[in-house]
Amino acid sequence: MTSWLEKRAALSPDKPGLYAGKDVWTFSEMAIEAQKLAEKISPYIKNQKPVALLITNQPQSVFFIHALQMIRVPVLMLNNRLTPEEWGYQLQDSQAQLVLHEEQFSVEAEAAQSIDECLKSNGGPIKRFEDEEICSVMYTSGTTGNPKGVMQSYDNHYASAAGSAFNIGHNPDDIWMCAVPLFHISGYSILMRSVIYGIAVRLYEKFDEQLIHEDLIDGKGSIISVVTTMLQRLLDVKGEPYHPLFRCMILGGGPAPLHMVERCHNEDIPVFQSYGMTETSSQFTTLSPGDATRKVGSSGKPLFPGEIRIIDADGNQCETDEIGEILLKGPSVTKGYLNRDQSAPFSNGWLKTGDVGYLDQEGFLFVADRRSDLIISGGENVYPAEVESVLAGHPAVIEAGVVGKKDDRWGEVPAAFLVVADQIDEEVLIHYAKERLAAYKVPKVFRFTDALPRNASGKLVRRMLKEEINDESV
Ligand code: ATP
Ligand code: MG
Repeated sequence: MTSWLEKRAALSPDKPGLYAGKDVWTFSEMAIEAQKLAEKISPYIKNQKPVALLITNQPQSVFFIHALQMIRVPVLMLNNRLTPEEWGYQLQDSQAQLVLHEEQFSVEAEAAQSIDECLKSNGGPIKRFEDEEICSVMYTSGTTGNPKGVMQSYDNHYASAAGSAFNIGHNPDDIWMCAVPLFHISGYSILMRSVIYGIAVRLYEKFDEQLIHEDLIDGKGSIISVVTTMLQRLLDVKGEPYHPLFRCMILGGGPAPLHMVERCHNEDIPVFQSYGMTETSSQFTTLSPGDATRKVGSSGKPLFPGEIRIIDADGNQCETDEIGEILLKGPSVTKGYLNRDQSAPFSNGWLKTGDVGYLDQEGFLFVADRRSDLIISGGENVYPAEVESVLAGHPAVIEAGVVGKKDDRWGEVPAAFLVVADQIDEEVLIHYAKERLAAYKVPKVFRFTDALPRNASGKLVRRMLKEEINDESV
């Protein structure tokens, strides 16, 4: 079976497929690089168990990903910011047969193989497993519990890429800028779209806002995927308008604070807010800039042909505007977690996301928060993301984390952890919050801190704040 890169190289051999720094590769040059690597790897491959990759955002990593698709063994993308213990957990849990790692990462595993050593080896004919359906495995960030290996099939990636193109349109001259990690679904899915659509990727080693800002002005890319911290950093350096070729900034990974979205609108940045997860092979819903001001706070509608259902605690379908758990169905949704009970994340074929939200009359999705982070105060639900978004809108506040603090009278009350630019009185913040939020949502406790706890994906770990604030009170 020919891999997607080989198919693409046969269709558009001379088209640029990858830019990195000053270098450029056409699709046929990429295919040659990947074939060379597939020959080097093949003698190490014994079976169809996953092969782990521990890499950075380098052109060579792109070729390794395509090489493993040629061999057609699932690739386990290891997050390079994790600790050796965390890699160890994923390697054991996934039963990876081989770990290819860059020299800078030391992995203590029998199956560990440095990439440099692998490149020195003689290689052999490319092994090809025709029947493998799983393309990639990525462990969720473990924001809420033990990480689980999400399996993404070739069909999942294909459906995700198709849904995205039906939404934002396909332009053969697009260049998709990738400054998000290749080991996340956000980065990996850009590589898949590139070979499926026949468009180039501009790869960045890391997110350097100054460089990306200049490239956006110079027209070096037409689409970029970002998370909120990246967008904030871009806004901080924003000067001149971006190049007219730049048409789409996909914002995902977490809730988008309102003040940020408003600023994008004012500065004509075509921001598409999205909602998705490792389990949906990237964005599942997207809000176009045209709807952004009309549907403030929404994450949009599902990409074709995805479906959303909202259910209450008893499993019944919620009414319009009624908050419940978000369930998803569609061809980009995973078949389940690796080496786990495949039915676990599903309810009658619908993926239970663990997120809560609602659909409005027009079918726009509003994500409220993760169900496990919900604060229940005097019987009222408080969604931390909403409170955080309001607090972060105050000019003195850089970032905010809100959790429930145990309270004798109310059960729980909201408590805010803040990183501030300037010293500010609690009273001022309370007044600011009261003007924008119902009284029960206004934090009763404030803590000022230098940084908020974030996991290797940069996501806020509210669990740690919750432990901290509740330990204080005992
Ligand atoms: P774990 O499942 O281990 O806790 P994780 O859910 O953080 O990890 P990801 O798959 O990277 O791992 O993140 C997906 C989650 O990010 C979603 O389930 C949701 O909670 C959050 N998220 C993504 N987009 C949005 C959005 N637009 N608004 C609110 N939350 C979002
Ligand atoms: Mg999750």
